[in-house]
Amino acid sequence: MKTVLVTGGAKGIGKAICLEFANNNYNVVFFYNNSKSQANQLKCQIEKLGVKCECYKVDVTNANEIQQAFIDIEHKFKIIDVLVNNAGICHKELIIDESIESTKNIINTNLIGPIEVSKFALRNMIKQNSGSIVNISSIWGNCGASCEATYSASKAGIIAFTKSIAKEYSYSGITCNCVCPGVIDTEMNSNLTQEEKQELVADIPAGRFGETNEVAKLVLYLASDNSKYITGQIITIDGGFTL
Ligand code: NDP
Repeated sequence: MKTVLVTGGAKGIGKAICLEFANNNYNVVFFYNNSKSQANQLKCQIEKLGVKCECYKVDVTNANEIQQAFIDIEHKFKIIDVLVNNAGICHKELIIDESIESTKNIINTNLIGPIEVSKFALRNMIKQNSGSIVNISSIWGNCGASCEATYSASKAGIIAFTKSIAKEYSYSGITCNCVCPGVIDTEMNSNLTQEEKQELVADIPAGRFGETNEVAKLVLYLASDNSKYITGQIITIDGGFTL
């Protein structure tokens, strides 16, 4: 049975990814940061599906927490077949008003975090000569968003990281791809007013926000043996928003 590791797995898109892999017979390991009770609930839900599940309190900006978790994961699961770098934060502010602390926090969480987690997963995957990494970026990593300049920069960084890892580790049987969601119905968008939501939907050709399980199904495909010849690709899932 294969094992997937999902960062930020307790809620939103990460939770849908954990459930999608569990429903397709993967053992699931996931990291959470603040959402402890949601993490424990999800662990129970996944175990009821008949696969193994472990969750770890890992802040992806904390290198020590990442390292400690990997020691335990490798002891319990031996092989990590798939890594999904999903954890992320957004922050809306004019760039001229953004504090250096806020800027560093976004870059540390959305860019340095995935890079650090990937290093540990790659060392494990290289030994097996196989593996898949799927990074969750954003349409704004391609297009740039007003009032989300640092978020957009962090997500653009993960796109370049994806292409580099694909080039560096294809010879080791490892694929690395990137998913760029448009507007997906999660807590990340809960601060939008009804009016703002309606305005956004009006700009989306599909006429609605995306669902978390639609992103999860794409991630599963990119991690599966059916997509072994796809690597270094940046795949948008946005209902036509950025066309
Ligand atoms: P949520 O706000 O619902 O979830 C964010 C997740 O990231 C949570 O599980 C949270 O963990 C985790 N997280 C945040 N900071 C850290 C940290 N320092 N260490 C570990 N985990 C952390 O957002 P979404 O599910 O919507 O977002 C998931 C990913 O999808 C993000 O990378 C986001 O940028 C991307 N995305 C989302 C879009 C959307 O419209 N929703 C559009 C495009 C991209 P916890 O709760 O345990 O702290």
